[in-house]
Amino acid sequence: MQSPYYTYKQYLIDTYGHRVYRVPIDLGWGCPNRDDDGSGGCTFCPGDGARGVQITGKDDIEAQVTAGVDFARERYGVEYFMAYIQAFTGTHADFTEQEQEYRRVLDAYPFESLTIGTRPDCLPESTLNLLTEFQQEVDVIVELGVQTIHDVTLDRIRRSHHWTESRAAIDALTDRGIRVIAHVILGLPGETPEHFAQTATTLAHLPLDGVKIHNLHVIRSTALAEEYEARPFPLMDEDDYAEEVIGFIQRLPPRMAILRINTDTPEEDLVAPRWHLKKGSFIHMIEQRMQTTNRRQGDLFNRLITFKC
Ligand code: SF4
Repeated sequence: MQSPYYTYKQYLIDTYGHRVYRVPIDLGWGCPNRDDDGSGGCTFCPGDGARGVQITGKDDIEAQVTAGVDFARERYGVEYFMAYIQAFTGTHADFTEQEQEYRRVLDAYPFESLTIGTRPDCLPESTLNLLTEFQQEVDVIVELGVQTIHDVTLDRIRRSHHWTESRAAIDALTDRGIRVIAHVILGLPGETPEHFAQTATTLAHLPLDGVKIHNLHVIRSTALAEEYEARPFPLMDEDDYAEEVIGFIQRLPPRMAILRINTDTPEEDLVAPRWHLKKGSFIHMIEQRMQTTNRRQGDLFNRLITFKC
């Protein structure tokens, strides 16, 4: 069955000619949005900066690469890999350290791509120039934490940047020929389906290669968990979220890859929402629902929406 949306798997095959597996790497640079003692940060963030389980306990770059490649070879039988600087903010270091550490990553394995996860306000001119240089030898992709285009929400979740910075980062990267994937969260406190639609429509008209969509998870030991426990706010169940994520996908152009459509949090760390469907079953349900209701990615691209503040 052909997927009703442009899957990441297909995007990788179209881009590289074969399947490519991401090898997560933590350069240990932390994040500019937290204090040195770990306090502060985005309210939803659990503080481990999304470190991959394969690399837990390994600090050496070469050891992380070996562990990630071996894990994927054994588990998925894949032969091609991209380095994914995933944890925390992958550009949060001075120029010299960035240059040295990206070089170490690329020397550790003949990766197809150097993919870097970062914040929109952590891409100074020197970093942009460095990424442009690396782009001469390897495909550079930046995964950018946008989350939403709404500044009121960005302030509420303590992102410490606004949409204008996300927009400027997307322009600066794509002007240099660097591919950009935007990360968004649907269901942030204070947002409604109109806010999601506005975010989708705005991103749809930018030169992004893809979008990674998360449903909001309230995770233990986060500021959001405290907020939720003090004054619970609405969280979407599977059914509500299914409709919102389908609507989001429909608003994106067919050329934009969908990297992810739901969030994966270990059971023991999740406060809410508790769904009955597991990640794989949810993805299957979305595909089935889109097929049976004749909805596809791009259906609502170019459809104007009105927005009430
Ligand atoms: S989500 Fe990213 S920017 Fe925000 S606190 Fe966590 S690591 Fe820092």
